[in-house]
Amino acid sequence: MQILDQHFEIFIPASSIQQRIKDLGVQINKDYRGKNPIFLSILNGAFIFAADLIREIHIPSEISFIKLKSYKRMESGGKIRELLGLEHDIFNRNIVIVEDIVDTGKTLNHILEEFKELGARSIEILTLLHKKEANRYPIDLRYVGFEIPDKFVVGYGLDYEGQGRNLKDIYKVISVA
Ligand code: 5GP
Repeated sequence: MQILDQHFEIFIPASSIQQRIKDLGVQINKDYRGKNPIFLSILNGAFIFAADLIREIHIPSEISFIKLKSYKRMESGGKIRELLGLEHDIFNRNIVIVEDIVDTGKTLNHILEEFKELGARSIEILTLLHKKEANRYPIDLRYVGFEIPDKFVVGYGLDYEGQGRNLKDIYKVISVA
């Protein structure tokens, strides 16, 4: 499969993604019973994951979307912009941050610092994908869908140069030697 100048191969099929989301839902329903959590999903990448996840949540909860950065081509760690769209009062609330992928951890590190100042009761992180080898910032990830190698991925909300978010499966780049 080709997007612009890059070739990709299938990596995590849609059926595996959906199964894993069901499992995560079971766990969150259990952990957050009686806690009325707010799921804060980070746009753009996490929008499809958040939409599927929230339909596996059967306890009282809220969801909201925040936005903060752009991702330059295939490198992480570009310039981080300000946090946009946080309309909820998160004081004394149980927050679950819903991310598509944690790479270096820079994005989350930035968000967590801002949230601590806003007085949330608890903040946990739920990410669909985690690139363990690339984690440069020490962050406690409470829920991880899949641990993946340090390869660029697209699909299921994740883009390459704006393309590929609509793909149902997750693909990884085929590196040319
Ligand atoms: P971090 O700040 O943890 O280095 O990077 C996290 C952000 O970088 C993610 O929210 C995502 O936007 C982007 N990112 C990191 N790795 C990938 C990848 O393999 N594919 C895509 N499409 N985006 C990535």
